[in-house]
Amino acid sequence: MIVFVVNCGSSSIKYQLFDMTDESVLARGLLERVGQSGSVLHHRSDETTHEIEVDAPNHTVGLKIILDTLVDPKIGVLKNIEEIEGVGHRVVHGGEQIRESTLIDDNVIKVIKDNASLAPLHNPPNLAGIEAAMSALSNVPQVAVFDTAFLATLPPRAYRYAVPRQWYEKYRVRRYGFHGTSHRYVTLRAAEILGKSVEEVNLITAHLGNGCSMTAVAGGKAIDHSMGLTPLEGLVMGTRSGDIDPAVIFYMARTAGMSLDEIDTTLNKKSGLLGLSGVSNDMRDCIEAAEKGNTDAALAMEVFSYRVAKYIGAYFAILPGCDAIIMTGGIGENSLPIRLRICQLLSNIGVIPDEKRNEEAIRKVGLITADDSKIPVWIIPTNEELMIARDTRDVVEQMAVK
Ligand code: ADP
Repeated sequence: MIVFVVNCGSSSIKYQLFDMTDESVLARGLLERVGQSGSVLHHRSDETTHEIEVDAPNHTVGLKIILDTLVDPKIGVLKNIEEIEGVGHRVVHGGEQIRESTLIDDNVIKVIKDNASLAPLHNPPNLAGIEAAMSALSNVPQVAVFDTAFLATLPPRAYRYAVPRQWYEKYRVRRYGFHGTSHRYVTLRAAEILGKSVEEVNLITAHLGNGCSMTAVAGGKAIDHSMGLTPLEGLVMGTRSGDIDPAVIFYMARTAGMSLDEIDTTLNKKSGLLGLSGVSNDMRDCIEAAEKGNTDAALAMEVFSYRVAKYIGAYFAILPGCDAIIMTGGIGENSLPIRLRICQLLSNIGVIPDEKRNEEAIRKVGLITADDSKIPVWIIPTNEELMIARDTRDVVEQMAVK
């Protein structure tokens, strides 16, 4: 089965085309600057990346350009677009209504629209991608895979905030969580690696990329998570603050005269590693600057690692057991000093890093702790696109059975 996976952002379309017989990637790419001048398609097939300047005034035209490229006689990989048997869409927010990957119908579209106010930067472009794909591939089943779905199992004590009940009932203020597809992928892989069934695995999974989040997984199900109503809560991220005292917001409004919009932008786009280091939102740049003696960059790395360790400690305390800590995402998969530092900070709960193993496990599955570490720490590269492709295949196959 050929499955096309689409991830639409406000000005971009990322895609991968899978042959699900062996889960191989036939082509992948990114269309940038959708709706702006100077759109560029980066299309990779046959181990070559082709850069093509195109005119993509909106997602519908953008998707058509990508589909045409997939059947292009020179750089395409399909003879006919009808070879695509399922389209999987990444959708950020499914709210409380959707708990698993779902065939897209009018009701699912309504849920995506209903939750747009909770994910204003993501759900509208996700929906634009769905509408574009539905018009270009009208006979092909379209499946929505929600970032929130894996976190729908959080119990009320983890998802409710201690604010007036009406805020939850009327305005749906609660913890939803994000990156669920990544946490689910590494949970399934971890169960395989540890030789356990998913239902019996207890884990702490840390997705450390530009955005960072952590999930406590008990019996294969998410029971707590660090991101909240929005992705701003929790760990230190590239440009997001993560946890702060909410009173900082009133204080900065009243004392520094900042508007709510300015504070919103500052906490989401100018904080985190960027805000602390004054150097960059990119961990590589922070590490490089710290090595050259920049103390602000060194502090950014320490605050980042300390926050991760603190959350791991909290999740260790609430889980029924912990078979492993899993790190993934750009920083988790690559950033040796951060991984090492996090492990060192966890010595009180018996984590013992192994520096040689840490150096070996780059962008691949690997154990980075010593054999006598009380909790093993594993690096597992994430693959959200493959998870979306598998879910799409499963939903399409179930349709055929019915
Ligand atoms: P996104 O969340 O946007 O998908 P990624 O998962 O790619 O982002 O993570 C980006 C982060 O990973 C950046 O902070 C980047 O510095 C870090 N990263 C990527 N490669 C390396 C590397 N080789 N060494 C250290 N950090 C890395």
